[in-house]
Amino acid sequence: MEGFKPTLGETLGDRKVDCRIPGCTNTWVWTSREQLDAFGRGETDPPRRMCDECYALYREIEPQEVTCSRPGCTNTWTWAPMSQLVRLRKTGRKTPPRRLCDHCRDRVEDVEDRQVGCRVPGCANTWTWTARDQIETGAPERKVDPPRRMCSSCYEQYQALEDRQIPCRVDACDGTWTYRRMQQLADARAGVTNPPDRMCDSCYERYNLLEDRRVPCRVEGCDGTWFWPKMAQLQAWVAAGTDDPIAPPSRMCPDCSALYASLQDEQVACSVPGCTGTWIDRRGAQLARIRKGKGRHPPDRLCDDCQALLHELDDREVSCKNIGCDGTWSWKRGAQLRAIRSSRRRDVEPPRRACDQCRRFIETHPAKVLHCRICGAPIEWSSENQLKVALGQWREPELCGTCRASS
Ligand SMILES: [Zn+2]
Ligand SMILES: [Zn+2]
Ligand SMILES: [Zn+2]
Ligand SMILES: [Zn+2]
Ligand SMILES: [Zn+2]
Ligand SMILES: [Zn+2]
Ligand SMILES: [Zn+2]
Ligand SMILES: [Zn+2]
Repeated sequence: MEGFKPTLGETLGDRKVDCRIPGCTNTWVWTSREQLDAFGRGETDPPRRMCDECYALYREIEPQEVTCSRPGCTNTWTWAPMSQLVRLRKTGRKTPPRRLCDHCRDRVEDVEDRQVGCRVPGCANTWTWTARDQIETGAPERKVDPPRRMCSSCYEQYQALEDRQIPCRVDACDGTWTYRRMQQLADARAGVTNPPDRMCDSCYERYNLLEDRRVPCRVEGCDGTWFWPKMAQLQAWVAAGTDDPIAPPSRMCPDCSALYASLQDEQVACSVPGCTGTWIDRRGAQLARIRKGKGRHPPDRLCDDCQALLHELDDREVSCKNIGCDGTWSWKRGAQLRAIRSSRRRDVEPPRRACDQCRRFIETHPAKVLHCRICGAPIEWSSENQLKVALGQWREPELCGTCRASS
């Protein structure tokens, strides 16, 4: 009957409208009948309404009393159901947000924002400590220090930086240390562009085990010392690649070093008479002599050639020069060397010398006086003559020269 002409309601059709709760993606249905009624009242926009699901939740929610977010304040504020629903839909959370009670919120009006110095050393900028933040940390009733925070410009730079690994300052070490971006920022603010010289953790640990030391001078006879700082000890330790600290190197004290620098190697004549060779008196040996109080003068020493020749020679047993004696004496190689150098011949003959027994005989038999058997005149009888008698070469005389001539 009325079916030929569509009603306005049929023309309009039901409309799906978004739920009014932020964070909810559901819709609710605005029926054509409701639309007609709305249009009748001159309203063209759909009303703000919840979806069925939100509505069901909403009806379950009770207002909640929540404690003020300022530490120490026991007041509460009322968390309205609508606000709870929005938070639930937006974040899925049922826990209340941090909020000040009315009383505290009024106090925010009385407190002023504060400018606080940037926490980065060397930065003169400030950041704003809002009245609200001050109230929330308990200020001003309790004396509260402002938090350590960066200014916005520092924070921006900080975000752009990254921690860096910097090689250990100890030469022989291949470890690294971490250059934190906070430190990088502080250094940049202080005008420092290069990372500081720093040790890796392992070197730093070792460094703390060490003490500056005074080490005895290596020159014998010197009681001076030289200074071995911790850092140099560490360098040597790391370079040695051992787990235990290393012994100090042998080194001269500053006095010896200075004296050593003033000395020069010198050529000294060979101590063997007749030899034209020389040997080098090293600075180190000169220094040692001076420190031992032996003076600067070089000692008697053989040249290299003489030393070599001496090694080739052997002590020789040589027959006693006295006829009738079968003893020998020892021709020492030092004496042979001197003989070779002074004669400039290698095949030099040994000197004529008495053996030890003959020499001892001479020492123990002083010259004596005999008397002529005939005239009683004295006869001088030397040690050598006595030796000849002992060796069976001569006989002791009985007559003086005069009596012998006339007999
Ligand atoms: Zn909804
Ligand atoms: Zn409060
Ligand atoms: Zn700053
Ligand atoms: Zn290191
Ligand atoms: Zn010294
Ligand atoms: Zn020589
Ligand atoms: Zn002899
Ligand atoms: Zn006589």
